[in-house]
Amino acid sequence: MPAVVNPATEQTIAQLPDAGVEETDAAVARAKAAFPAWRAVSPTDRARLIRRVATLVEANVEELARIESQNVGKPIGGARAEVGMVAQVFHFYAGAVDKHHGQTIPVAGGVDLTFREPLGVVGLIVPWNFPLNIASWKVGPALACGNTVVLKPAELTPLSALRLAELVLEAGIPEGVVNVVVGPGRVVGQRLVEHADVAKIGFTGSTEVGRSVMQAAAGTIKRVTLELGGKSANVVFADADLEQAAASAPYAVFDNAGQDCCARSRILVERSVYDRFAELLVDATRNVKVGDPQDEATEMGPLISSQHRETVSSFVDGNTLFTGATPSGPGFWFPCTLVEATNDDRVAREEVFGPVAALIPFADEEDAVRIANDTPYGLSGSIWTENGARAMRVARALETGVLSINSNASVRPSTPFGGFKQSGFGRELGMQALDGYSEVKNVYMAT
Ligand code: NAD
Repeated sequence: MPAVVNPATEQTIAQLPDAGVEETDAAVARAKAAFPAWRAVSPTDRARLIRRVATLVEANVEELARIESQNVGKPIGGARAEVGMVAQVFHFYAGAVDKHHGQTIPVAGGVDLTFREPLGVVGLIVPWNFPLNIASWKVGPALACGNTVVLKPAELTPLSALRLAELVLEAGIPEGVVNVVVGPGRVVGQRLVEHADVAKIGFTGSTEVGRSVMQAAAGTIKRVTLELGGKSANVVFADADLEQAAASAPYAVFDNAGQDCCARSRILVERSVYDRFAELLVDATRNVKVGDPQDEATEMGPLISSQHRETVSSFVDGNTLFTGATPSGPGFWFPCTLVEATNDDRVAREEVFGPVAALIPFADEEDAVRIANDTPYGLSGSIWTENGARAMRVARALETGVLSINSNASVRPSTPFGGFKQSGFGRELGMQALDGYSEVKNVYMAT
């Protein structure tokens, strides 16, 4: 029975049985049995039930935030905001149920209609860094389209998904519509990907595992959406508001202790302002409050595990510009770290997934775009400039799915989110996510 650990205290907070192939098959069978009745629920009633999930999440913000904070080591204030977003996501998809529909298409000799059909049973596989949030990005649109769900949380962080499943039942969504299976990725996840009765996999995780999910899905020509790793650039031009850019940059990479697929972990700075910006950035980073996640003032908690801490520390091997402080005592702490690098260094090529930012100088706009795009990833990024035309030119030139101008925000319930290149494909959030949880059917009737 594997232990669930609080990474800030190293204490065991729960012990859960590990499910295997048999339990996964049982969950898929339940989801399959629940599908015909769930797809037949009227749009109005389906929307009402999803909205009830949203209001129950709102009513249980404190409990859900505490679970997420204790299981992931997230600062409690940030965890509360994340749970608030989970509620917004369910509100959004409650409202979307009857707004994602087919078309009539002019054709000769008859009438042509398209319908949006649900897929059936969908397998949703999520990572440990934003467990509840990312679960909601998948469960919300999957339910809105009339699918039933088997959700597999990450081994390290299963608790909030289990609580969500209880709230789904409390909302009145019938048994079997949302199922949660807790167990190892290589057993439960793999089984979901290969299962003939699972129509689609919504996967968020590493590019490495995403690659194997895509391969395994080929056996059943399964639909997949892949939300994978990132190595995003925060591009600061000399004409930017440097104070504002420097004040924001630490939170763009140290938020969630850097365990964020959108982390702007390559900070590209125009050479003429590099020294000034580096000074401002060090000052801002010094102010990041690292410590007890239960303290309302804390801005950064620990890493998820000691094994992950070892991986993160392997990236820091010289040219360190700044190393922050960490609490003493138990907990998988790692300091905020700024390093000076070139885009060819390992720290700039691979996803660190920890609080380590690489500062890289560039010569001019063309050089900035070249360096920013010189990565196999393409998830998010930021552009800091007071020149609107340049902001738009660079935004169009960057090979990335999500961009912010004079901001480091990435995610909103109503706007599409997802990657270019090896950061994956398909989109979550917004109306676009509904395309990934439905199939287009074309019907022609001769008149
Ligand atoms: P991971 O790839 O190790 O695991 C993700 C999930 O896949 C877990 O639930 C895991 O149990 C499961 N899994 C593992 N092996 C599997 C297999 N063979 N078949 C099916 N499922 C399997 O990722 P992680 O360490 O949990 O999360 C960190 C990664 O997630 C980072 O690379 C990060 O960038 C990425 N991420 C991406 C986004 C995004 O939206 N693009 C968001 C958050 C995290």
